[in-house]
Amino acid sequence: MRVSFIGLGAMGFPMAGHLAKNFDLTVWNRTGSVAQEHARTFGSGAASKLADCGDADAIITILPTSREVDEIIDELAPKLKSGALWIDSTSGDPLQSRQSAKRLNDRGVRFVDAPVTGGTPGAEKGTLTVMIGGSESDFRRAQDIVKPFSAKIFHCGGVGMGHAIKVITNTMNAANIWVAGEGLLALKKLGMDMKLALEVINAGSGRSNATENLVPKRVVDGQWPLTFKLSLHDKDIRIANSLAHSQHLVSPVFGLVGQFFTAACNELGHQADYMDVLKYAARMNGEEW
Ligand code: NDP
Repeated sequence: MRVSFIGLGAMGFPMAGHLAKNFDLTVWNRTGSVAQEHARTFGSGAASKLADCGDADAIITILPTSREVDEIIDELAPKLKSGALWIDSTSGDPLQSRQSAKRLNDRGVRFVDAPVTGGTPGAEKGTLTVMIGGSESDFRRAQDIVKPFSAKIFHCGGVGMGHAIKVITNTMNAANIWVAGEGLLALKKLGMDMKLALEVINAGSGRSNATENLVPKRVVDGQWPLTFKLSLHDKDIRIANSLAHSQHLVSPVFGLVGQFFTAACNELGHQADYMDVLKYAARMNGEEW
């Protein structure tokens, strides 16, 4: 099967690496040298022009937002084969992805949204969770294609439902990150050792993905790697808030988390890592991690 992969960023580069072992894979990246590096590392075929990605049975995109995905769809649509399947792994906007699906369907191309969770470690290990929105038959086709980089694959409903649950789960993670920062800062000021504090929290009711997997590396080991841009996390929370708003829901915690993340993004810059919100929360109190 011929598969084209578009977007070799922090997530796409390792995800496409797993696919290169299973499919006849062509990769394209806006910065072409990255596609060439991918070809050298994984034996994929580097496309020099986006148009070279058109002649595929499946096209996978993982780009910053649905806006860039739509730009790529506009450019590539005339080149696509009828019956091809577009798999969008971007953390996108469900309402926009429904429109993208319709535009592609009009040309005989199927569409599923298939965002992922598990971060760059999951992408490297091939243990991502994939949340797919689309018809039953499109889900089954997509499942076979994304399997090499996945540990769990869920069919979440029609087109858009994968994107919907992705931004909601990320917003819940954001709330846990922020509240972990507040709690640990209070304990630090009281004089408690951070390693011990996290050990106790993780043995009790306050534990979360943030306290178990994300915070220790930063707060205990002092490592602050760039794995997920704060601006992209901020975008997810914005989409989650607009989804809640579209359902006439009152969701004050979503709103507040969004305000904190946007403020941190404005202060720290769009290239900061999402976990740097801990530093921002500390600075609000005249403290540093
Ligand atoms: P990166 O910023 O690392 O990579 C973005 C990719 O998109 C790069 O390949 C970049 O190309 C390309 N790109 C950017 N703008 C354009 C454009 N206008 N036209 C074409 N290509 C473009 O992002 P991530 O890999 O971290 O994230 C990608 C998606 O996955 C986002 O939706 C994010 O929310 C989601 N995600 C990220 C996770 C993470 O931990 N990082 C975890 C789960 C989901 P170039 O090399 O030229 O800049």
